[in-house]
Amino acid sequence: MSARRKRRLFFALWPDAEVRNGLASAAAAVRKHGSGRSVPDENLHITLAFLGSVDEELLDCVRSAAEQVNAGAFALTIDRAGWWKRTGILWLGPSAGPAALNRLVKSLWAALEPCGFWPDFRDFHPHVTIARRWRKARLPEIRPVHWPIDALMLLESHTGQRGARYTLLERWPLIR
Ligand code: ATP
Ligand code: MG
Repeated sequence: MSARRKRRLFFALWPDAEVRNGLASAAAAVRKHGSGRSVPDENLHITLAFLGSVDEELLDCVRSAAEQVNAGAFALTIDRAGWWKRTGILWLGPSAGPAALNRLVKSLWAALEPCGFWPDFRDFHPHVTIARRWRKARLPEIRPVHWPIDALMLLESHTGQRGARYTLLERWPLIR
């Protein structure tokens, strides 16, 4: 009997080139004020739902869940840096988490339930991780990044030699 293939999957907001540039320069400005392990610019994203190691047989279910998401496009402004002491994570995020983003995540987890995933949006704190094992020095103000959100992405995470690498598997436009 052959082992069934598992894939490490997560849904995310994946920035286009322009937004990624904005996030990358804000991240660089913040990281001048401390030390830790930087996240490469090409990895910057916001995780919406982490699925973990998923049996390949569930992929169709996950894909149709994404199709059922009932949420429209909205705008996100990334305007602050933050630091979580316990996890050592340095991040960028919105100071006002838009209700539309919470609705999107709720709708996504609800759609994923029939596939056997349990929602964990209770502690959903939208953020872009920009460094790990961060020792805080100072958190400067950042130049706000305007991020028009119009799609939901499914990504696969691979363990590369220099940390995680992500592959974009599919993209669903947010239309309602
Ligand atoms: P690495 O683990 O190699 O340092 P990474 O955390 O970016 O890199 P993954 O662990 O594959 O790579 O995670 C993919 C995404 O899912 C990241 O945004 C990560 O923060 C998030 N994530 C990982 N584990 C969890 C979890 N248990 N709960 C919520 N989100 C998670
Ligand atoms: Mg991880």
